[in-house]
Parts: sequence; structure tokens; C-alpha cells
Amino acid sequence: MKSTVRKSTDARVPARWRADVERVLITETQLARRVRILSRQIERDFSGRELVIVSLLSGTVMFLADLIRQISLPLRLDFIGVSSYGNGTESRELVFTKELRLDVRGRDVLLVDDILDTGKTMKRVLEKLRVLKPRRIQTCVLLNKAARRIENIEADYVGFDIPDYFVVGYGLDFAERYRNLPFVGVLKPHIYESVLPAPIKRKR
Ligand code: 5GP
Ligand code: MG
Repeated sequence: MKSTVRKSTDARVPARWRADVERVLITETQLARRVRILSRQIERDFSGRELVIVSLLSGTVMFLADLIRQISLPLRLDFIGVSSYGNGTESRELVFTKELRLDVRGRDVLLVDDILDTGKTMKRVLEKLRVLKPRRIQTCVLLNKAARRIENIEADYVGFDIPDYFVVGYGLDFAERYRNLPFVGVLKPHIYESVLPAPIKRKR
């Protein structure tokens, strides 16, 4: 079962965000409804198993919180910190900022990320996890941008297929901001253009 977002919904941008946000791509209601469906699928597929959920920081915070609250299975939760260096909208060099603490050997792992874009992040993290010999690894992403894929990789659970927009909100950031928007949206062009390249921004 798939959920595809082709263009913006008719939902108006809430007044308090109108200065920064160009449009709402996925509303709070759509998010809640879809996440509930994903939770149910996961619960059914992993029934009788104890899950280890491995979530990538920090973009997954809201999605993860909503997702796991509705999974009524015994589960443990851990995080891997991964950051693609730079402030802009293009992912670059991958850096691990937090390592896994839980032992996943022989366990059923569900890897959760905010968005599957080129696939580089997911591929690197999967390689890292496989070394730890889990029994099985499944992947779950809130958003999927198939148009930008470089690596041959798909997620097992996908919230929404979206077009090639740089999106923010519901945990996703632009230059560490806008994670607190309750919807997924697209910023106004002047906001994206406002971030200067890192060497110029760096303090002297
Ligand atoms: P990938 O390695 O698949 O190219 O990129 C995955 C990571 O890049 C995601 O975990 C996310 O942090 C970031 N990313 C990719 N596309 C977007 C986007 O549209 N908005 C935001 N905020 N982050 C994105
Ligand atoms: Mg991320």
C-alpha cells in the first residue's frame, strides 16, 4: 500500500508560518493517519518478535515518537547519529556522531529514517548494522524521494512518496531549523538562499 504526494494539498499554511513556508505538502492529519497504518503493518509483520528499533538522529524524532507509541510489541529503542556535513540542501560527507549502544546480534531490527533520498545514508548504515549480525533488518522511512536515488535501495515501509522538493517539518530540518513544524512543507526560496556557504559563515 502506497501513499503518493504529487503536488501540494489545498491546506493553507498556518498564519504563524506563512513568512517562511511556501506550501504544506503533507498535513498533520495526513501524517497521523499514515503513521497509524505503518504502525499497524509493523506490528503485524513483527508479531511474536521482540524488536530493536534503530532510529537515525535527529530527523526522525516526531515520526518515531508517533510510530512507536502505536506499536504494541515488546521493543527496545536505540539511536545512531549520522550527519551529512554542511548546512545546505545537498547531502555531502557522512559523519557518525553517535554509535549504537544496544546489542543487536540475533535480533529483529527495524531501521527508521526520516527520508530516503539518494540512498547513501541508508546504505552506509545498513552496512554498519549487518556487521553486528542481527537476525533480520527491515527499513522504515517517513518519506521517499525516488527521483533522486543513486544507490539501488528501497525501504520496506514507506510513509509517503514525494516529488523532488527539499522538505522541512515534522522533524526534518533546514540548517537545523523548522523541525518543529507539525506538517511537512516546502520553504520559500529566499530562506533556502539565505544560508551562506560554510567558509564564509564560520567564525574567525
Ligand atoms: P540520502 O543519504 O538518502 O541522500 O539522504 C538522506 C538524508 O538526507 C536524510 O536522512 C535527511 O537527513 C537528508 N535529506 C534528504 N532529503 C531531504 C529533504 O528534502 N529535507 C530534509 N530536511 N532533509 C533531507
Ligand atoms: Mg537524516
